Amino acid sequence: MQTHILGFPAIGKGRELKQALESFWKGELPAESLLKTSQELKKRHWQIQKDAKLDYVSTGDFSLYDRMLDMTCLLGAIPRRFSVCRGDSPLDGYFSLARGDVRRNIPALEMTKWFDTNYHYLVPEISANEPWVVVDHPVIADTRTAKELGYSPKPSLIGPFTWLALAKVRDGSPKWERLDAVIAAYEKILRELSPHCDCIQIEEPVLCTELLPPEAAMRFGEAYAALNAACAGNRLMLATYFGPLAGNLKLAVNSGCAVLHLDLVRGAGQLKAVLEAVPSTMSLSLGVVDGRNIWKTDYAARKILIEQAVAAIGRERVWLGSSCSLLHCPADVEEETDLPEHIKNRMAFAVQKCAELAGLNKIIENADSAALEENTALLRAAAMQPESMVKAVRERVATISTSDLNRQSACPQRRAAQAWINLPLLPTTTIGSFPQTASIRKTRREFKNGRLTEAEYVSAIRHEIKECIAKQEKLGLDVLVHGEAERNDMVEYFGQQLAGFCFTRNGWVQSYGSRCVKPPVIYGDVYRKQPMTVDWIRYAQSLTEKPVKGMLTGPVTILCWSFVRDDIERSEVCKQIALAIRDEVLDLEKSGVRIIQIDEAALREGMPLLKSDAEVYLQWAVDAFRLASAGVKDSTQIHTHMCYSEFNAILPWIAKMDADVISIESSRSGMELLDAFTDFRYQGGVGPGVYDIHSPRIPTVEEMAELLRKALCNIPRELLWVNPDCGLKTRQWEEVLPSLANMVAAALLVRDTLS
Ligand code: GLN
Ligand code: ZN
Repeated sequence: MQTHILGFPAIGKGRELKQALESFWKGELPAESLLKTSQELKKRHWQIQKDAKLDYVSTGDFSLYDRMLDMTCLLGAIPRRFSVCRGDSPLDGYFSLARGDVRRNIPALEMTKWFDTNYHYLVPEISANEPWVVVDHPVIADTRTAKELGYSPKPSLIGPFTWLALAKVRDGSPKWERLDAVIAAYEKILRELSPHCDCIQIEEPVLCTELLPPEAAMRFGEAYAALNAACAGNRLMLATYFGPLAGNLKLAVNSGCAVLHLDLVRGAGQLKAVLEAVPSTMSLSLGVVDGRNIWKTDYAARKILIEQAVAAIGRERVWLGSSCSLLHCPADVEEETDLPEHIKNRMAFAVQKCAELAGLNKIIENADSAALEENTALLRAAAMQPESMVKAVRERVATISTSDLNRQSACPQRRAAQAWINLPLLPTTTIGSFPQTASIRKTRREFKNGRLTEAEYVSAIRHEIKECIAKQEKLGLDVLVHGEAERNDMVEYFGQQLAGFCFTRNGWVQSYGSRCVKPPVIYGDVYRKQPMTVDWIRYAQSLTEKPVKGMLTGPVTILCWSFVRDDIERSEVCKQIALAIRDEVLDLEKSGVRIIQIDEAALREGMPLLKSDAEVYLQWAVDAFRLASAGVKDSTQIHTHMCYSEFNAILPWIAKMDADVISIESSRSGMELLDAFTDFRYQGGVGPGVYDIHSPRIPTVEEMAELLRKALCNIPRELLWVNPDCGLKTRQWEEVLPSLANMVAAALLVRDTLS
């Protein structure tokens, strides 16, 4: 069987790409050095795939910022506002699209989450009469280089239907009328790539969703006929992932492509139907190694699926692959020197997953029964670990009742009970974190390394909190936060204090651009050992008359941003976390905190791609939030924060979370998500972000005031809050202070017109 992966994580096992990018942006590293680091990383990753004896190495998976952006550049679909950047160097032009151009005051492309992952891509923007100017793309050069170096490259492109489905039309022109132009551009790219390889991966995860409108689906066959023709005998692999093909199964099997890749981790149920429908000219690539988790593959379980396919279509037509790109998992478990052996034993990162594919191949050929037995024994031993099942936790989960999920009164009554908090119209606040300065990071590092005593650490963090409160008072914000100086990461911070979690040293995964996250690992039952945030918040509140928001991460977000054990249901794990957060909420309330924010930044991204699965998920996810938050009195105000733009479809579910106030992203999408609020009256307060914290640009008073005026068309004045669209920890104080000063000024300006 042929073996391959859909892509290798670009960032590097020492996050070399991150460092190079950030130095380049600061002007400390010349372009050549950035490109040299990139070349080294690519070669290293190709060699890993070759060493694992995979049949192909992946090209086009490496990007300096984002693969969707690369595709946008390859097509030349550069929005008109960037035409003034045309004279810039190619790298500067590229990064202007990604990060905005501060000097010329040009906002970046919008950024949003890639399907149900925590990876963010840059949203293509199109309008009818914008000419496309094809820009060079590294995939062609990289494929050529890989071949010259003796590798067997399989270039990958995000497919035309996925690209167009995710693109945003600026001028309301019919999107799918652009399809001919898009296909023509892809044909050209395929013709250029073909001489350098014998298989090209074209990714259409959109086929695993319900996003393709009929007018697009209708044209799928003809479009793919053109693409296949452009390859002239070269093989196209149509790659689908993140779920089963469901309603698009026929389109995929009739695409005329030589290979169809299926995600059998998230969509194992589709195999039977695909095997029945697949034409004899098409091979199947089985995505059996999970590209989105860190656990070793259960060989015995996968063997059943693979053998089913082999029996139906013959071994020559079966390929083995990762379920999706390995972009979503860290690089190399060998870097993990601190993990307990019994946990590390169960893990496989990108490097190990490459080897697993070769291993599975051998097992199927009956050449390695020892490996199969060893794998089975290892998974059995893991289930027997005491942390895998804690009796008290299981009992508490089993006795959760509906009354645990309900506040005492409905939202409008609670608003009256919360009048004592005494806030002005259009209250101003922030999302929680303030800049993580070098000194804050040093304090945490030194404490971790044992160079600071606990007492020294506490006093250093208290000092940061004090400064942060003082700055907010000076800015005139209405609801303050403690600033999260003690938190490296909003999920890791809680994971570190909860039972059932462990941490990798180097398990970094790219989130966007140079930004990486290091997800905690949930390997056992979860419970709270002691209060986690109370002392910090109580201290912050003691410094000011203004209300300080307690700041917690919600159960769904903790779940979604962790690598989760795969031996019990995710919904069960989520309930365990919710109970732990509930205990913390009640302790905060007891210590006099008036407002508690429970962030659910990941609620939307955790949604499975198909409607039927999504409903099931939303039900248990919303219940978990309610379980975490509903224990408080009516007079305590619960906030939640969510940062993503496609919000409209799930607004009724968000309402069911029953928070008193929600803050949401919207500045990057020009407030259009507020349209949702015209059809749907949200009972609680709403804070649409008016300041895009993903860009270093300082928004003006007038532009934020304008956004607020727009928001007032949809949101009653008593319910409108004023805040940035996310936490400020990645920003510098030099940007944050003037931006927030402008934000407060904008709120005052608009507030004045209301009274
Ligand atoms: N409270 C968190 C912060 O401000 C929220 C971050 C997020 O939504 N991603 O950093
Ligand atoms: Zn956010």
